[in-house]
Amino acid sequence: MQELWTQIQAELETAVDAADYASWLAPLQAMRLDDTELSVGVPTQFMLDWVAENYQDIFNTAVSKVSGKDMAVTFCVVPISMASEKPKLPDNFLPEKIEATPEEGIEAQLLGGTALNPLSTFKAFVTGNSNAVAYAAASRIAEAVCAGETAAYNPFFLHGGVGLGKTHLMHAVGWEILAKNDKLKVLYISAEQFLFRFIRALQSKSTLNFKETFRNVDVLMIDDVQFIAGKGATQEEFFHTFNTLVSMGKQVILTSDRSPHDLDRVEERLKSRLGSGLTCEVHAPEVETRLAILEQKAALLGLELGRDVIEFMAQNIVSNVRELEGALNRLAAHAKFVGATITLEFAQEQLKDLFRSQAKGVTLDDIQRQVAEFYTIKIADLHGPRRQRQIARPRQVAMYLCKKLTTRSFPEIGRAFGGRDHTTVMHGTKAVEKLLVSDSTLAEEVRLLERALS
Ligand code: ADP
Ligand code: MG
Repeated sequence: MQELWTQIQAELETAVDAADYASWLAPLQAMRLDDTELSVGVPTQFMLDWVAENYQDIFNTAVSKVSGKDMAVTFCVVPISMASEKPKLPDNFLPEKIEATPEEGIEAQLLGGTALNPLSTFKAFVTGNSNAVAYAAASRIAEAVCAGETAAYNPFFLHGGVGLGKTHLMHAVGWEILAKNDKLKVLYISAEQFLFRFIRALQSKSTLNFKETFRNVDVLMIDDVQFIAGKGATQEEFFHTFNTLVSMGKQVILTSDRSPHDLDRVEERLKSRLGSGLTCEVHAPEVETRLAILEQKAALLGLELGRDVIEFMAQNIVSNVRELEGALNRLAAHAKFVGATITLEFAQEQLKDLFRSQAKGVTLDDIQRQVAEFYTIKIADLHGPRRQRQIARPRQVAMYLCKKLTTRSFPEIGRAFGGRDHTTVMHGTKAVEKLLVSDSTLAEEVRLLERALS
């Protein structure tokens, strides 16, 4: 068995990132092997959930490749003390090396958290309709923390799509607080790191220390908490930490890609707890804000761009700020490389793949027309309220294609479907993504539609 396991491990190692391998797969052990099944021991329930959710397919492939037959791979929790050999601690997921004893090391790192990005300040944040409320709320939080009056806004929950400035605003709050009072302990950590460190604490039996550390901060900022949703023990631990801090009057700041209410696999009581402070959404920037952001960032890069270029970019790159930055960086790199001044033609040429879908001219209308025709329903039904499956499914497929083939935001797509809420679009898109894996008929339909639209 051990030999087979070593080969399986080698397969797995080539199939995933080195860091992921070290964090999640290296600590696993083969427990039992028979003709049809390999049972794999995982140190904690949390890791088990994670591994089963993320690596089951990779496991199946590796195992059938090595054993030459289809075998079931099952996971079971095997606490470390019972396992034959102590699992290797996943030690390369931490950015810094631990110098002190394990407990002190963890504590020192936790207090350090991850460094705040010096570029992510309030001053560097361009506001417009899409984000002014979030900006105002974030600066209010910074003030409130310094004035010691957190109660009214705890937690501050900032949500919105990817690349819209959530992390930026969170760091800005951190900087602002530290600028006013550098005695305050501000801890910024991604939800992912929170999980990693919690597991480490479990493995080294130092959860008390882990908890103590969090109790010692004045402001706890956890980025992308959607990542914790549905993660069993870690989710519980997170909410304990969270409740403790809030009840001690410490400020908790959270970001997520969706509202507390829309978090999957989180108990109702926790959702309502998360939404019980100040909740705020950042939206995709509208064209004026995109213009302002481009101007500001071009200046920072020392990039001289004509009004025509800036307008062209603002018109065509619509989904998020990170893409605007990406486009600017690309222009800056190319301009430096070839020493060209950036004309409109140059920009169009360099950036054309970024908005291929616009260039191809696929519009939300096109997609709706094509989908309606394909499923022989009326376009009006895509906009209308009917919820029967034969209407609802094509509607979700159309939403999915709109998201995939255009750069329209969820709210924009929602408006094109009879004024539906963006969360409905998110839900629909996700539902289709999930089904594509299991439903081969649907996958084929979507493939045909995509081809017809391209
Ligand atoms: P999120 O956390 O919402 O995915 P980020 O905060 O990482 O997004 O933002 C992505 C990039 O866009 C960052 O480099 C950030 O500084 C920049 N950015 C986002 N919104 C703005 C804004 N309003 N003004 C200036 N830069 C912004
Ligand atoms: Mg972020």
